Amino acid sequence: MQPFTYVSITNQGQAIQSMAGNDTAKFLAGGTNLIDEMKLGVERSAELIDINALPLTKIEKSPDGGLRIGALVRNSDLAWNDAVRRKYPVLSQALLSGASPQLRNMATTGGNLLQRTRCYYFRDVHSPCNKREPGSGCAAIDGFNRIHAVLGTSEKCIATHPSDMCVALMALDATIRVAGPNGDRSIPISEFYVAYGEDPAKENTLAHDELITAVDLPAIEYSKRSLYLKIRDRASYEFALASAAVVLDLDGKNIRAARIALGGVGTKPWRSPEAETALAGKPATNETFTAAADAALRNAKPRKFNAFKIELAKRTIVQALQAVVALA
Ligand code: SF4
Repeated sequence: MQPFTYVSITNQGQAIQSMAGNDTAKFLAGGTNLIDEMKLGVERSAELIDINALPLTKIEKSPDGGLRIGALVRNSDLAWNDAVRRKYPVLSQALLSGASPQLRNMATTGGNLLQRTRCYYFRDVHSPCNKREPGSGCAAIDGFNRIHAVLGTSEKCIATHPSDMCVALMALDATIRVAGPNGDRSIPISEFYVAYGEDPAKENTLAHDELITAVDLPAIEYSKRSLYLKIRDRASYEFALASAAVVLDLDGKNIRAARIALGGVGTKPWRSPEAETALAGKPATNETFTAAADAALRNAKPRKFNAFKIELAKRTIVQALQAVVALA
């Protein structure tokens, strides 16, 4: 592990100031991903700015009836929060399906948004990897790519986004609030993650000296009818091979509106407008669900070892929709 300096900061403005012009510094929150990567030599920050003392730990009602979640709210606290469980079950379920209880007790909302891929080659400093070392190549494209993405890939990188929480946030149209040297701004989650394209090292639109301060969930009349289904190689402490976050507005046996996001198959938490269009205004039948699943994966691009994910993701969508319709 490369030596680094450590500073703990109690003032938000000071934290942002410490990061400005300091390219080798990183904010430290739960550290469940960052410290791992530092031990592996994947992350080589020379300075850690510990922000755990900042007052960003509240979950509060927002004036529009939604929720504001502080960036330092731990994943466990968010998952078990009463309002989240009642109004946004998809988010609670997604959080509880991720990692282990110990990790969820440490991991924060802001950190989860910035979680990095678990591509084995990314985490092995001896393998070529365009994301870790731009221009070095991608060992996964012609390598063992069973866990890799089938949606949103480029010829530079096919790494899967690892988060469950972010898939639920994508379906809920969350907004990320950030603070930086030029003030505060809000980023819709649909604009937070970027396509890999030519530069897979760039994963989001956050500037280096910006700090995530909160996540806003809008009030959604029908968000109680929501669900997260995760399919993985083992029952716990495992990343998704395919997952679906579904939020459904039902009018009797017909679907008024739907929100569908996928995990485990995309290079970012993957919202599927194609599936949503295939569901809106249709009867809630298996035929409709299958058409939506087909639409969601229509542009999927399989590699040698991950073609199974296309069918798996389709079945995950169908099963999640069946389950969400069956909710009382
Ligand atoms: Fe690196 Fe992306 Fe290729 Fe994995 S898939 S080796 S992260 S470039």
